[in-house]
Amino acid sequence: MHYEGDIIRPPNEIDSILLQVATGCPHNRCTFCGAYRDRDFRLKPASMVQADLRWAARHLGRMRRLFLCDGDCLSLSHARLMTLLADVREHLPQVARVGSYASARSLARKSDAELAELRRAGLTHVYMGVESGDDAVLARVGKGCSRDDIIAQGLRVSAAGMKLNVSVIVGLGGVEGGLVHARETGGLLSAMNPDFIGVLSLMLVPGTPLYADHAAGRFALPDAHGLLRELRELLATTSVRSGIFLANHASNHLPLRLRLPRDRERGLALLDQALDGYVALKPEWLRAL
Ligand code: SF4
Repeated sequence: MHYEGDIIRPPNEIDSILLQVATGCPHNRCTFCGAYRDRDFRLKPASMVQADLRWAARHLGRMRRLFLCDGDCLSLSHARLMTLLADVREHLPQVARVGSYASARSLARKSDAELAELRRAGLTHVYMGVESGDDAVLARVGKGCSRDDIIAQGLRVSAAGMKLNVSVIVGLGGVEGGLVHARETGGLLSAMNPDFIGVLSLMLVPGTPLYADHAAGRFALPDAHGLLRELRELLATTSVRSGIFLANHASNHLPLRLRLPRDRERGLALLDQALDGYVALKPEWLRAL
């Protein structure tokens, strides 16, 4: 496979063929994100993607999932995406699900009919980096969209029949705004009703503007206790009809895997025990992005 740079995928795409159809992220301005700072957003040549599909057909013929890399492949034109999905079906007919990152901005440029057509063509899983439901936080970190934008686009993904996976980041509101950030994010998730919620804890990445803000004293990062309080507030204010709430990312201090709404009280009780010091937290040196 012709990979350029580090390949980033959602944790639950671990068993997927990673097909890099573009490099980088077309936004690339979120102040906390170091994922693609080393590269511009650029489509890879169709001939290279075709060669990768042929290679995958020869060597990865038993894998049933595929993920389109890098960030925000929904920013590709509708025609290009439809061609890609047709190529996947032709070369890898065993693939039963295809996933991609998507931003609220790129989704807003697709019509409802186009989203439905992409779903019929095989795009089954959309991953949105929501990060926060607090407009003040979204603006401060340069996310480039509002809470209302995110909710509206997430609902359109679900209406098109795709599975909606979102990630949010505790700690992004800083020490001062942490609980408001958590509460607003819980409210956003409740309005959006995603199938899967992945919770990360903010880790500052050297080279990012937020890292520089922290070093200069302009941003205060909550400690482990503060992050847990936010996680508790987030869970307490998240009310979805049915979904997975996963906070077992390597960045988190206390791994959680909950089916909502069934397991919410159990999760809150565990978080209360951890906040009271009765549950051991992951040591800092074991945390990673
Ligand atoms: S968080 Fe997502 S949208 Fe923002 S710069 Fe990173 S990859 Fe791009």
